[in-house]
Amino acid sequence: MLEQLLPALKQTFGYDTWRDGQAEIISATLSQRDCFVLLPTGGGKSLCYQLPALHLPQVTVVVSPLMSLMKDQVDALIANGIAAAFINSSQSREDILEVFAQLRRGELKLLYVAPERLLQPSFLARLSEVGVSLFAIDEAHCVSQWGHDFRPDYMALAQLKQHFPQVPMMALTATADPGTQQDIVQQLGLQGPLIYRGSFDRPNIRYTVQEKFRPLEQLLAYLKQQENNSGIIYCSSRRKVDELAAQLQERGFKVAAYHAGHDAINREQVQDAFKRDDINIIVATVAFGMGVNKPNIRFVVHFELPRTIEAYYQETGRAGRDGVAAEALLLFDPADIVRMKRWLEAEENPERAEVARQRFQSMASFAEAQTCRRLVLLNYFGEARQQPCGNCDICLNPPTQFDATETAQKALSCVYRVKQNFGLHHVIEVLRGSQNQKIQEYGHDKLSTWGLGKALSHDYWLSIFRQLIHFGLLQQDITQHSVLRLLPAARPILRGEQPLMLAVPRLQTPQKSSAKPS
Ligand code: ADP
Ligand code: ZN
Repeated sequence: MLEQLLPALKQTFGYDTWRDGQAEIISATLSQRDCFVLLPTGGGKSLCYQLPALHLPQVTVVVSPLMSLMKDQVDALIANGIAAAFINSSQSREDILEVFAQLRRGELKLLYVAPERLLQPSFLARLSEVGVSLFAIDEAHCVSQWGHDFRPDYMALAQLKQHFPQVPMMALTATADPGTQQDIVQQLGLQGPLIYRGSFDRPNIRYTVQEKFRPLEQLLAYLKQQENNSGIIYCSSRRKVDELAAQLQERGFKVAAYHAGHDAINREQVQDAFKRDDINIIVATVAFGMGVNKPNIRFVVHFELPRTIEAYYQETGRAGRDGVAAEALLLFDPADIVRMKRWLEAEENPERAEVARQRFQSMASFAEAQTCRRLVLLNYFGEARQQPCGNCDICLNPPTQFDATETAQKALSCVYRVKQNFGLHHVIEVLRGSQNQKIQEYGHDKLSTWGLGKALSHDYWLSIFRQLIHFGLLQQDITQHSVLRLLPAARPILRGEQPLMLAVPRLQTPQKSSAKPS
Protein backbone atom coordinates (compact mmCIF):
# COMPACT_ATOMS: atom_id res chain seq x y z
CA MET A 1 0.00 0.00 0.00
CA LEU A 2 2.81 2.39 0.84
CA GLU A 3 4.32 1.86 -2.54
CA GLN A 4 1.11 3.09 -4.07
CA LEU A 5 1.43 6.21 -1.96
CA LEU A 6 4.95 7.07 -3.07
CA PRO A 7 3.77 8.85 -6.21
CA ALA A 8 1.49 11.03 -4.07
CA LEU A 9 4.37 11.82 -1.76
CA LYS A 10 6.38 12.90 -4.74
CA GLN A 11 3.80 14.61 -6.88
CA THR A 12 1.68 16.31 -4.27
CA PHE A 13 4.26 17.07 -1.63
CA GLY A 14 7.46 16.97 -3.65
CA TYR A 15 9.37 14.55 -1.39
CA ASP A 16 11.29 11.48 -2.50
CA THR A 17 11.41 9.48 0.71
CA TRP A 18 9.55 9.01 3.95
CA ARG A 19 10.83 10.57 7.08
CA ASP A 20 11.25 8.70 10.34
CA GLY A 21 7.93 7.08 11.22
CA GLN A 22 5.77 8.47 8.43
CA ALA A 23 5.40 5.21 6.49
CA GLU A 24 4.47 3.22 9.57
CA ILE A 25 2.01 5.81 10.86
CA ILE A 26 0.34 6.34 7.50
CA SER A 27 -0.14 2.66 6.86
CA ALA A 28 -1.63 2.14 10.33
CA THR A 29 -4.01 5.04 9.73
CA LEU A 30 -5.13 3.75 6.37
CA SER A 31 -5.96 0.45 8.03
CA GLN A 32 -8.22 2.34 10.45
CA ARG A 33 -5.99 2.12 13.49
CA ASP A 34 -5.74 4.89 16.10
CA CYS A 35 -2.26 6.38 16.33
CA PHE A 36 -0.28 8.24 18.90
CA VAL A 37 2.49 10.17 17.17
CA LEU A 38 5.34 11.59 19.16
CA LEU A 39 7.76 13.29 16.81
CA PRO A 40 9.89 16.32 17.49
CA THR A 41 9.11 19.73 16.09
CA GLY A 42 10.02 19.70 12.43
CA GLY A 43 9.77 15.93 12.33
CA GLY A 44 7.09 15.96 9.64
CA LYS A 45 3.96 15.28 11.65
CA SER A 46 1.53 17.09 9.34
CA LEU A 47 2.21 14.73 6.46
CA CYS A 48 1.11 11.81 8.66
CA TYR A 49 -2.51 12.91 8.34
CA GLN A 50 -2.38 15.08 5.22
CA LEU A 51 -1.33 12.27 2.94
CA PRO A 52 -3.91 9.76 4.21
CA ALA A 53 -6.52 12.50 3.91
CA LEU A 54 -6.04 12.49 0.14
CA HIS A 55 -6.80 8.80 -0.06
CA LEU A 56 -9.67 8.51 2.37
CA PRO A 57 -13.20 8.82 1.03
CA GLN A 58 -14.52 11.45 3.45
CA VAL A 59 -13.14 14.51 5.10
CA THR A 60 -10.25 14.49 7.59
CA VAL A 61 -10.90 16.85 10.49
CA VAL A 62 -7.81 18.43 12.01
CA VAL A 63 -8.05 19.98 15.47
CA SER A 64 -5.50 22.69 15.96
CA PRO A 65 -5.16 25.21 18.78
CA LEU A 66 -3.91 28.22 16.89
CA MET A 67 -5.61 30.24 14.22
CA SER A 68 -2.40 31.40 12.58
CA LEU A 69 -1.24 27.81 12.36
CA MET A 70 -4.45 26.73 10.68
CA LYS A 71 -4.32 29.45 8.09
CA ASP A 72 -0.69 28.69 7.21
CA GLN A 73 -1.34 25.02 6.77
CA VAL A 74 -4.48 25.52 4.73
CA ASP A 75 -2.77 28.07 2.49
CA ALA A 76 0.10 25.65 1.91
CA LEU A 77 -2.30 22.80 1.12
CA ILE A 78 -4.31 24.83 -1.34
CA ALA A 79 -1.07 25.92 -3.00
CA ASN A 80 -0.34 22.21 -3.46
CA GLY A 81 -3.72 21.68 -5.06
CA ILE A 82 -5.36 19.99 -2.08
CA ALA A 83 -8.92 20.91 -1.16
CA ALA A 84 -8.62 22.23 2.37
CA ALA A 85 -10.39 24.82 4.50
CA PHE A 86 -10.59 26.02 8.07
CA ILE A 87 -13.29 27.30 10.35
CA ASN A 88 -12.50 29.62 13.18
CA SER A 89 -13.71 32.75 14.89
CA SER A 90 -11.73 35.07 12.63
CA GLN A 91 -14.08 34.37 9.71
CA SER A 92 -17.24 36.09 8.61
CA ARG A 93 -20.57 34.24 8.61
CA GLU A 94 -20.49 34.08 4.81
CA ASP A 95 -17.06 32.47 4.79
CA ILE A 96 -18.19 29.87 7.27
CA LEU A 97 -21.35 29.11 5.29
CA GLU A 98 -19.25 28.67 2.17
CA VAL A 99 -17.03 26.14 3.98
CA PHE A 100 -20.12 24.27 5.13
CA ALA A 101 -21.37 24.17 1.56
CA GLN A 102 -18.07 22.72 0.35
CA LEU A 103 -18.23 20.19 3.14
CA ARG A 104 -21.76 19.16 2.18
CA ARG A 105 -20.80 18.76 -1.45
CA GLY A 106 -18.00 16.44 -0.33
CA GLU A 107 -15.35 18.66 -1.86
CA LEU A 108 -13.07 19.00 1.12
CA LYS A 109 -10.26 16.61 1.91
CA LEU A 110 -9.10 18.45 5.03
CA LEU A 111 -10.99 20.67 7.43
CA TYR A 112 -9.13 22.49 10.22
CA VAL A 113 -11.09 23.54 13.30
CA ALA A 114 -10.51 24.89 16.78
CA PRO A 115 -11.57 22.53 19.57
CA GLU A 116 -14.33 24.75 20.93
CA ARG A 117 -15.99 24.89 17.52
CA LEU A 118 -15.71 21.18 16.90
CA LEU A 119 -17.73 20.32 19.97
CA GLN A 120 -20.68 22.57 19.28
CA PRO A 121 -23.69 20.24 18.89
CA SER A 122 -24.72 21.75 15.56
CA PHE A 123 -21.23 21.26 14.19
CA LEU A 124 -21.04 17.69 15.39
CA ALA A 125 -24.39 17.05 13.70
CA ARG A 126 -23.09 18.42 10.40
CA LEU A 127 -20.04 16.20 10.60
CA SER A 128 -22.16 13.14 11.32
CA GLU A 129 -24.22 13.94 8.25
CA VAL A 130 -21.32 14.20 5.83
CA GLY A 131 -19.19 11.53 7.50
CA VAL A 132 -15.63 11.83 8.75
CA SER A 133 -12.74 9.57 7.71
CA LEU A 134 -10.15 10.63 10.25
CA PHE A 135 -9.68 12.93 13.23
CA ALA A 136 -6.21 14.37 13.70
CA ILE A 137 -5.56 16.09 17.03
CA ASP A 138 -2.55 18.35 16.63
CA GLU A 139 -0.61 19.55 19.70
CA ALA A 140 -2.35 16.77 21.58
CA HIS A 141 -0.42 17.44 24.81
CA CYS A 142 -2.83 20.37 25.33
CA VAL A 143 -5.38 17.78 26.44
CA SER A 144 -3.38 16.75 29.49
CA GLN A 145 -3.44 18.59 32.77
CA TRP A 146 0.01 17.19 33.41
CA GLY A 147 1.36 18.49 30.14
CA HIS A 148 3.18 21.78 30.01
CA ASP A 149 0.58 23.59 27.93
CA PHE A 150 -2.81 22.45 29.12
CA ARG A 151 -5.78 24.09 27.38
CA PRO A 152 -9.21 23.67 28.91
CA ASP A 153 -10.76 23.74 25.41
CA TYR A 154 -8.95 20.54 24.62
CA MET A 155 -10.44 18.68 27.59
CA ALA A 156 -13.75 18.31 25.82
CA LEU A 157 -12.10 16.38 22.98
CA ALA A 158 -12.47 13.37 25.22
CA GLN A 159 -16.08 13.27 23.97
CA LEU A 160 -15.11 12.84 20.33
CA LYS A 161 -14.68 9.09 20.58
CA GLN A 162 -18.17 8.82 22.06
CA HIS A 163 -19.71 10.66 19.13
CA PHE A 164 -17.61 8.91 16.49
CA PRO A 165 -16.53 5.55 17.86
CA GLN A 166 -15.82 4.14 14.40
CA VAL A 167 -13.65 6.96 13.13
CA PRO A 168 -9.89 6.48 13.59
CA MET A 169 -8.09 9.14 15.51
CA MET A 170 -4.51 10.33 15.36
CA ALA A 171 -3.02 12.29 18.26
CA LEU A 172 0.15 14.22 17.47
CA THR A 173 2.56 16.01 19.74
CA ALA A 174 6.17 17.06 19.91
CA THR A 175 6.50 17.08 23.64
CA ALA A 176 5.46 14.40 26.02
CA ASP A 177 7.21 12.77 28.87
CA PRO A 178 5.97 9.23 29.49
CA GLY A 179 3.34 10.39 32.03
CA THR A 180 1.77 12.98 29.76
CA GLN A 181 1.83 10.50 26.92
CA GLN A 182 -0.23 7.97 28.82
CA ASP A 183 -2.62 10.66 29.86
CA ILE A 184 -3.20 11.78 26.26
CA VAL A 185 -3.99 8.24 25.13
CA GLN A 186 -6.42 7.86 27.99
CA GLN A 187 -8.09 11.27 27.72
CA LEU A 188 -8.76 10.90 24.02
CA GLY A 189 -9.82 7.29 24.41
CA LEU A 190 -7.52 5.92 21.73
CA GLN A 191 -8.22 2.23 21.11
CA GLY A 192 -5.16 -0.02 20.93
CA PRO A 193 -3.24 2.72 19.19
CA LEU A 194 -0.02 2.42 17.29
CA ILE A 195 2.40 4.35 19.47
CA TYR A 196 5.16 5.87 17.46
CA ARG A 197 7.98 7.60 19.30
CA GLY A 198 10.48 9.26 17.05
CA SER A 199 13.95 10.31 18.07
CA PHE A 200 14.10 13.71 19.66
CA ASP A 201 17.63 14.36 18.60
CA ARG A 202 18.18 17.44 16.46
CA PRO A 203 21.79 16.86 15.51
CA ASN A 204 22.14 20.13 13.61
CA ILE A 205 21.32 22.23 16.67
CA ARG A 206 24.29 23.14 18.81
CA TYR A 207 23.34 23.66 22.45
CA THR A 208 25.29 26.20 24.47
CA VAL A 209 24.75 27.45 27.99
CA GLN A 210 26.59 30.60 28.90
CA GLU A 211 26.83 32.02 32.36
CA LYS A 212 25.12 35.41 32.42
CA PHE A 213 27.30 38.24 33.68
CA ARG A 214 26.39 41.28 31.62
CA PRO A 215 23.37 40.07 29.73
CA LEU A 216 23.04 42.86 27.20
CA GLU A 217 26.74 42.98 26.33
CA GLN A 218 26.89 39.23 25.99
CA LEU A 219 23.84 39.23 23.78
CA LEU A 220 25.19 42.02 21.57
CA ALA A 221 28.48 40.20 21.10
CA TYR A 222 26.57 37.10 20.14
CA LEU A 223 24.26 38.88 17.70
CA LYS A 224 27.23 40.50 16.03
CA GLN A 225 28.60 37.07 15.19
CA GLN A 226 25.25 36.11 13.76
CA GLU A 227 25.35 38.93 11.21
CA ASN A 228 22.09 38.86 9.27
CA ASN A 229 20.92 35.46 10.40
CA SER A 230 17.33 34.98 11.51
CA GLY A 231 16.79 34.28 15.17
CA ILE A 232 14.43 34.39 18.12
CA ILE A 233 15.24 35.72 21.58
CA TYR A 234 12.95 34.45 24.32
CA CYS A 235 12.34 36.42 27.53
CA SER A 236 10.06 35.49 30.38
CA SER A 237 8.01 38.68 30.66
CA ARG A 238 6.31 41.11 28.30
CA ARG A 239 8.06 44.00 29.99
CA LYS A 240 11.46 42.45 29.35
CA VAL A 241 10.53 41.70 25.72
CA ASP A 242 9.61 45.33 25.04
CA GLU A 243 12.66 46.65 26.84
CA LEU A 244 15.12 44.35 25.10
CA ALA A 245 13.57 44.86 21.66
CA ALA A 246 13.89 48.64 22.12
CA GLN A 247 17.53 48.30 23.17
CA LEU A 248 18.36 46.23 20.11
CA GLN A 249 16.42 48.53 17.83
CA GLU A 250 18.42 51.48 19.11
CA ARG A 251 21.57 49.67 18.10
CA GLY A 252 20.35 49.20 14.56
CA PHE A 253 19.18 45.59 14.57
CA LYS A 254 16.19 44.68 12.43
CA VAL A 255 14.13 43.48 15.32
CA ALA A 256 10.52 43.36 16.53
CA ALA A 257 8.82 42.51 19.79
CA TYR A 258 6.14 39.84 20.03
CA HIS A 259 3.92 38.97 22.96
CA ALA A 260 0.29 38.39 23.79
CA GLY A 261 -0.11 42.01 24.94
CA HIS A 262 0.10 43.21 21.34
CA ASP A 263 -3.02 43.07 19.21
CA ALA A 264 -3.55 40.30 16.71
CA ILE A 265 -2.94 42.48 13.64
CA ASN A 266 0.37 43.69 14.98
CA ARG A 267 1.42 40.16 15.83
CA GLU A 268 0.54 38.89 12.39
CA GLN A 269 2.50 41.72 10.76
CA VAL A 270 5.53 40.87 12.85
CA GLN A 271 5.28 37.20 11.92
CA ASP A 272 4.94 37.97 8.24
CA ALA A 273 7.87 40.37 8.28
CA PHE A 274 9.96 37.73 9.98
CA LYS A 275 8.97 35.14 7.40
CA ARG A 276 9.90 37.45 4.56
CA ASP A 277 13.24 38.20 6.25
CA ASP A 278 12.35 41.91 6.54
CA ILE A 279 13.06 41.43 10.22
CA ASN A 280 15.97 39.29 11.39
CA ILE A 281 15.26 39.03 15.05
CA ILE A 282 12.11 38.53 17.08
CA VAL A 283 12.23 39.21 20.80
CA ALA A 284 9.33 37.28 22.25
CA THR A 285 7.62 35.61 25.13
CA VAL A 286 6.57 31.99 24.86
CA ALA A 287 3.52 33.27 22.98
CA PHE A 288 5.64 33.28 19.83
CA GLY A 289 6.34 30.21 17.87
CA MET A 290 3.76 27.47 17.86
CA GLY A 291 2.70 28.24 14.34
CA VAL A 292 5.99 29.52 13.05
CA ASN A 293 7.07 27.40 10.16
CA LYS A 294 10.17 29.30 9.12
CA PRO A 295 12.82 26.81 8.06
CA ASN A 296 15.90 29.04 8.17
CA ILE A 297 15.93 30.22 11.77
CA ARG A 298 19.62 30.03 12.61
CA PHE A 299 19.58 30.74 16.32
CA VAL A 300 17.33 30.77 19.37
CA VAL A 301 18.50 32.60 22.48
CA HIS A 302 16.96 32.16 25.89
CA PHE A 303 17.64 35.37 27.70
CA GLU A 304 16.04 33.91 30.79
CA LEU A 305 15.68 30.40 32.10
CA PRO A 306 12.61 28.63 30.65
CA ARG A 307 10.22 26.95 33.03
CA THR A 308 10.44 23.42 31.70
CA ILE A 309 12.69 21.30 29.53
CA GLU A 310 9.70 20.69 27.28
CA ALA A 311 9.37 24.40 26.64
CA TYR A 312 13.12 24.79 26.17
CA TYR A 313 13.24 21.91 23.72
CA GLN A 314 10.25 23.12 21.76
CA GLU A 315 11.51 26.68 21.59
CA THR A 316 15.06 25.74 20.61
CA GLY A 317 13.55 23.27 18.14
CA ARG A 318 12.35 26.18 16.01
CA ALA A 319 15.94 26.69 14.93
CA GLY A 320 17.37 24.82 11.97
CA ARG A 321 14.26 23.20 10.63
CA ASP A 322 15.99 23.15 7.24
CA GLY A 323 18.59 20.76 8.64
CA VAL A 324 21.41 23.30 8.29
CA ALA A 325 23.59 24.04 11.34
CA ALA A 326 21.82 26.16 13.95
CA GLU A 327 22.42 27.28 17.52
CA ALA A 328 20.57 27.36 20.81
CA LEU A 329 22.07 29.67 23.39
CA LEU A 330 20.86 29.79 26.97
CA LEU A 331 22.06 32.73 29.06
CA PHE A 332 21.94 31.46 32.58
CA ASP A 333 22.08 33.29 35.88
CA PRO A 334 21.66 30.99 38.90
CA ALA A 335 19.68 33.79 40.54
CA ASP A 336 16.94 33.08 37.99
CA ILE A 337 16.41 29.79 39.77
CA VAL A 338 15.63 31.51 43.05
CA ARG A 339 13.35 34.01 41.32
CA MET A 340 11.49 31.32 39.45
CA LYS A 341 11.03 29.17 42.53
CA ARG A 342 9.44 32.06 44.37
CA TRP A 343 7.19 32.62 41.41
CA LEU A 344 6.17 28.98 41.31
CA GLU A 345 5.06 29.19 44.91
CA ALA A 346 2.11 31.23 43.68
CA GLU A 347 0.47 28.13 42.18
CA GLU A 348 -2.38 27.23 44.50
CA ASN A 349 -3.34 23.75 43.38
CA PRO A 350 -0.86 21.60 45.34
CA GLU A 351 -0.63 18.85 42.72
CA ARG A 352 0.00 21.23 39.87
CA ALA A 353 2.48 23.12 42.02
CA GLU A 354 4.40 19.92 42.61
CA VAL A 355 4.46 19.11 38.89
CA ALA A 356 5.63 22.62 38.11
CA ARG A 357 8.37 22.41 40.72
CA GLN A 358 9.65 19.11 39.44
CA ARG A 359 9.63 20.26 35.84
CA PHE A 360 11.45 23.42 36.74
CA GLN A 361 14.02 21.53 38.78
CA SER A 362 14.87 19.45 35.70
CA MET A 363 15.36 22.62 33.70
CA ALA A 364 17.62 24.10 36.36
CA SER A 365 19.67 20.91 36.46
CA PHE A 366 20.09 21.04 32.70
CA ALA A 367 21.50 24.56 32.95
CA GLU A 368 23.86 23.60 35.74
CA ALA A 369 24.97 20.27 34.29
CA GLN A 370 28.59 19.71 33.34
CA THR A 371 27.75 16.79 31.06
CA CYS A 372 26.86 16.74 27.37
CA ARG A 373 23.71 18.88 26.96
CA ARG A 374 22.21 16.57 24.37
CA LEU A 375 22.59 13.58 26.67
CA VAL A 376 20.73 15.42 29.41
CA LEU A 377 17.93 16.39 27.02
CA LEU A 378 17.48 13.03 25.34
CA ASN A 379 17.62 11.12 28.58
CA TYR A 380 14.98 13.43 29.98
CA PHE A 381 12.71 12.42 27.11
CA GLY A 382 13.36 8.78 27.87
CA GLU A 383 15.64 8.23 24.89
CA ALA A 384 18.52 6.41 26.58
CA ARG A 385 21.85 7.59 25.20
CA GLN A 386 25.36 7.31 26.51
CA GLN A 387 27.51 8.75 23.76
CA PRO A 388 28.40 12.45 24.13
CA CYS A 389 27.29 14.38 21.06
CA GLY A 390 30.29 16.44 20.01
CA ASN A 391 28.04 19.39 19.18
CA CYS A 392 27.34 21.21 22.44
CA ASP A 393 29.41 23.58 24.56
CA ILE A 394 30.39 20.86 27.03
CA CYS A 395 31.56 18.44 24.33
CA LEU A 396 33.35 21.10 22.28
CA ASN A 397 34.95 22.86 25.18
CA PRO A 398 34.96 20.61 28.22
CA PRO A 399 35.07 22.48 31.51
CA THR A 400 38.59 22.50 32.93
CA GLN A 401 38.96 22.11 36.63
CA PHE A 402 41.62 23.81 38.68
CA ASP A 403 42.78 23.65 42.28
CA ALA A 404 40.68 26.48 43.64
CA THR A 405 41.54 25.98 47.32
CA GLU A 406 43.36 29.26 47.71
CA THR A 407 40.89 31.22 45.59
CA ALA A 408 38.01 29.81 47.62
CA GLN A 409 39.75 30.64 50.89
CA LYS A 410 40.05 34.27 49.82
CA ALA A 411 36.39 34.39 48.89
CA LEU A 412 35.13 32.63 51.99
CA SER A 413 37.25 34.58 54.41
CA CYS A 414 36.10 37.82 52.85
CA VAL A 415 32.50 36.77 53.53
CA TYR A 416 33.57 36.09 57.11
CA ARG A 417 35.37 39.45 57.45
CA VAL A 418 32.31 41.45 56.41
CA LYS A 419 30.47 39.54 59.15
CA GLN A 420 28.23 37.58 56.77
CA ASN A 421 26.18 40.69 56.39
CA PHE A 422 26.72 41.77 52.77
CA GLY A 423 25.73 40.61 49.31
CA LEU A 424 27.68 39.13 46.46
CA HIS A 425 28.70 42.27 44.61
CA HIS A 426 29.86 44.10 47.69
CA VAL A 427 32.04 41.19 48.80
CA ILE A 428 33.58 40.99 45.33
CA GLU A 429 34.30 44.71 45.32
CA VAL A 430 36.04 44.36 48.67
CA LEU A 431 38.14 41.51 47.33
CA ARG A 432 39.01 43.55 44.27
CA GLY A 433 40.16 46.49 46.37
CA SER A 434 37.49 48.97 45.36
CA GLN A 435 37.32 52.32 47.16
CA ASN A 436 33.64 52.87 46.53
CA GLN A 437 31.56 54.87 48.95
CA LYS A 438 29.92 51.94 50.67
CA ILE A 439 33.28 50.25 51.26
CA GLN A 440 34.72 53.39 52.82
CA GLU A 441 31.61 53.95 54.85
CA TYR A 442 31.90 50.52 56.47
CA GLY A 443 35.66 50.64 56.71
CA HIS A 444 35.92 47.55 54.56
CA ASP A 445 39.06 48.93 52.95
CA LYS A 446 40.79 48.24 56.27
CA LEU A 447 40.00 44.52 56.18
CA SER A 448 42.80 42.00 55.65
CA THR A 449 40.98 40.58 52.65
CA TRP A 450 40.58 43.97 50.93
CA GLY A 451 42.30 43.88 47.54
CA LEU A 452 43.34 40.22 47.80
CA GLY A 453 41.59 39.45 44.53
CA LYS A 454 42.64 42.49 42.55
CA ALA A 455 44.21 40.45 39.78
CA LEU A 456 40.93 38.89 38.75
CA SER A 457 37.88 40.46 37.13
CA HIS A 458 34.51 41.00 38.75
CA ASP A 459 32.94 38.43 36.44
CA TYR A 460 35.61 35.89 37.28
CA TRP A 461 34.82 36.25 40.96
CA LEU A 462 31.12 36.10 40.26
CA SER A 463 31.57 32.71 38.67
CA ILE A 464 33.70 31.50 41.60
CA PHE A 465 31.10 32.64 44.11
CA ARG A 466 28.30 31.01 42.16
CA GLN A 467 30.17 27.73 42.21
CA LEU A 468 30.74 28.04 45.95
CA ILE A 469 27.00 28.55 46.35
CA HIS A 470 26.30 25.65 44.02
CA PHE A 471 28.59 23.37 46.04
CA GLY A 472 26.92 24.27 49.31
CA LEU A 473 29.77 26.27 50.88
CA LEU A 474 27.89 29.55 50.78
CA GLN A 475 24.26 30.52 50.89
CA GLN A 476 22.46 33.61 49.72
CA ASP A 477 19.91 34.45 52.37
CA ILE A 478 16.91 35.53 50.34
CA THR A 479 15.07 36.67 53.44
CA GLN A 480 17.88 39.12 54.21
CA HIS A 481 18.64 41.05 51.02
CA SER A 482 20.58 38.04 49.67
CA VAL A 483 23.49 38.47 52.07
CA LEU A 484 26.14 35.78 51.82
CA ARG A 485 26.47 33.35 54.70
CA LEU A 486 29.00 30.59 55.30
CA LEU A 487 27.71 27.03 55.51
CA PRO A 488 29.37 24.32 57.64
CA ALA A 489 31.04 22.77 54.58
CA ALA A 490 33.12 25.96 54.22
CA ARG A 491 35.06 25.29 57.44
CA PRO A 492 37.47 22.56 56.32
CA ILE A 493 38.27 24.61 53.21
CA LEU A 494 38.98 27.74 55.24
CA ARG A 495 41.16 25.76 57.64
CA GLY A 496 43.11 24.23 54.78
CA GLU A 497 42.02 20.73 55.73
CA GLN A 498 40.46 19.96 52.39
CA PRO A 499 41.30 20.97 48.81
CA LEU A 500 38.63 22.25 46.43
CA MET A 501 38.43 21.86 42.66
CA LEU A 502 36.30 24.27 40.64
CA ALA A 503 35.64 24.86 36.96
CA VAL A 504 37.70 27.58 35.32
CA PRO A 505 35.22 30.43 34.74
CA ARG A 506 34.14 30.91 31.15
CA LEU A 507 33.84 34.54 30.43
CA GLN A 508 34.00 34.74 26.67
CA THR A 509 31.15 34.41 24.19
CA PRO A 510 30.86 31.14 22.30
CA GLN A 511 32.58 30.66 18.98
CA LYS A 512 30.59 31.06 15.82
CA SER A 513 29.04 27.79 14.72
CA SER A 514 30.98 25.96 12.04
CA ALA A 515 29.34 22.61 12.53
CA LYS A 516 27.96 20.73 9.59
CA PRO A 517 24.83 18.74 10.24
CA SER A 518 25.41 15.03 10.25
P1 ADP B 1 6.03 19.15 12.59
O1 ADP B 1 4.56 19.42 12.46
O2 ADP B 1 6.35 17.77 13.03
O3 ADP B 1 6.76 20.19 13.39
P2 ADP B 1 6.01 19.64 9.80
O4 ADP B 1 4.90 18.73 9.47
O5 ADP B 1 5.73 21.10 9.82
O6 ADP B 1 6.67 19.21 11.16
O7 ADP B 1 7.21 19.32 8.81
C1 ADP B 1 8.45 19.94 8.96
C2 ADP B 1 9.10 20.13 7.62
O8 ADP B 1 9.48 18.89 7.07
C3 ADP B 1 8.18 20.79 6.63
O9 ADP B 1 8.91 21.79 5.96
C4 ADP B 1 7.79 19.66 5.71
O10 ADP B 1 7.51 20.15 4.44
C5 ADP B 1 9.02 18.78 5.74
N1 ADP B 1 8.74 17.36 5.44
C6 ADP B 1 7.75 16.60 5.95
N2 ADP B 1 7.82 15.33 5.47
C7 ADP B 1 8.88 15.28 4.65
C8 ADP B 1 9.50 14.24 3.83
N3 ADP B 1 9.01 12.99 3.80
N4 ADP B 1 10.59 14.56 3.12
C9 ADP B 1 11.09 15.82 3.16
N5 ADP B 1 10.57 16.84 3.88
C10 ADP B 1 9.48 16.58 4.63
ZN1 ZN C 1 27.39 17.17 23.73
